[in-house]
Amino acid sequence: MNHLDEKVEPIFQEVLQRNPGEVEFHQAVREVLESLGPVLVKNPEFADRKIIERICEPERQIIFRVPWLDDNNQVHINRGFRVEFNSSLGPYKGGLRFHPSVYLGIIKFLGFEQIFKNSLTGMPIGGGKGGSDFDPKGKSDNEIMKFCQSFMTELYRHLGEHTDVPAGDIGVGGREIGYMFGQYKRITNRYEPGVLTGKGLDWGGSLVRTEATGYGATYFINEALRVRNDSFDGKTCLVSGSGNVAIYTIEKIHQLGGTCIACSDSNGVIIHEKGLDLDLIKQLKEVERRRISDYISFHKDAKYIQGGNIWDIPCQVAMPSATQNELNGKDAKTLVNNGCIAVGEGANMPTTPEGVKIFLDAKIAYGPGKAANAGGVATSALEMQQNACRDSWTFEYTEKRLEEIMVNIHNLCYETAEEYGAPGNYVLGANVAGFIKVAKAMVAHGLI
Ligand code: GLU
Repeated sequence: MNHLDEKVEPIFQEVLQRNPGEVEFHQAVREVLESLGPVLVKNPEFADRKIIERICEPERQIIFRVPWLDDNNQVHINRGFRVEFNSSLGPYKGGLRFHPSVYLGIIKFLGFEQIFKNSLTGMPIGGGKGGSDFDPKGKSDNEIMKFCQSFMTELYRHLGEHTDVPAGDIGVGGREIGYMFGQYKRITNRYEPGVLTGKGLDWGGSLVRTEATGYGATYFINEALRVRNDSFDGKTCLVSGSGNVAIYTIEKIHQLGGTCIACSDSNGVIIHEKGLDLDLIKQLKEVERRRISDYISFHKDAKYIQGGNIWDIPCQVAMPSATQNELNGKDAKTLVNNGCIAVGEGANMPTTPEGVKIFLDAKIAYGPGKAANAGGVATSALEMQQNACRDSWTFEYTEKRLEEIMVNIHNLCYETAEEYGAPGNYVLGANVAGFIKVAKAMVAHGLI
């Protein structure tokens, strides 16, 4: 682990003490705090106003019971969360995650990162995150609907287009957003599209939102390669995961001339040396909701490795797009030794601190999630813009906006890293640039 500046160390100790057991939150906070020492030297008012201390404490945390009935009329109780972390730049904005691993520490790590990510987009959105320990795997469509309705029956009172605007994350896609929007509309008697993003295209959604996180992560790395006089053309790539982020990362990499040879799910890895068949992956995952292992019954020349580690496969570009801490120090070493020159995080905090250090020391192009995967939430903000003016834009125009936003984020991180004497370090660039904008707004708004 890197060293914390002496002004910052006691702040981190207090975070540990006040939030016991929330290890992912500690990890996310430490990673940002490691970058902030020089920012306090340049901006003493941030220390005087205790901006870091305030940023580490959510503005509001909501925890609630979510009861629901399964198809056999059995009662289930899950726990729901919404952490409204910071509203200095706009209404709380961030996704909802439905996964059995969810507890307060996961939602707080995600909400904390979301503050800086949303700041980097340049859009008027604050940071928040929510979700539940509900496991959507194996549930019927009817059970998913009943869960979403029960979840929204509590959450609706905390939301609003000027207050808090959730979207999807792991386990929450277009179907779940639809059921939650329906329940919100019914309870409030308001057709308020701006209250959720990731909506269906027929009822207030935005073109490109589905593709945005994966496309955006690929644009970010494309730009990082470009400043090194390189490109995706002819590169062999790995994309972990096989959900929404992974699928559209693969699509954009293929459009830019790279070849993705492997993807994965929590059970195993698919390797297809001649390049993944994306239409098949979309059919299996998006339409039929099947496991990725079924891929090999359609392609005899592909391999499935049950329990395999995708990072053992040699590649030039790696795009971790599954979940937090999926890539550790050993994996990072393997990737670098195998000649990997760029890593772009489509997932949130997929690389452990040991892994991050190895990428930074090796001076490869490493795009941390809060910068590289900001295209998803940025396009959510574009969806909010369209909702606010009751308009809908073309695919081409929306994608152009996304590309411009990702190039801007890249350049902001790149230039900030140079300014702070760490050229090429996008971790430092993202943390510092994301933080400064929020900190200035907090100073301007006074002690609240
Ligand atoms: N869950 C996504 C993220 O991690 C998107 C959030 C949103 O669109 O509000 O940024």
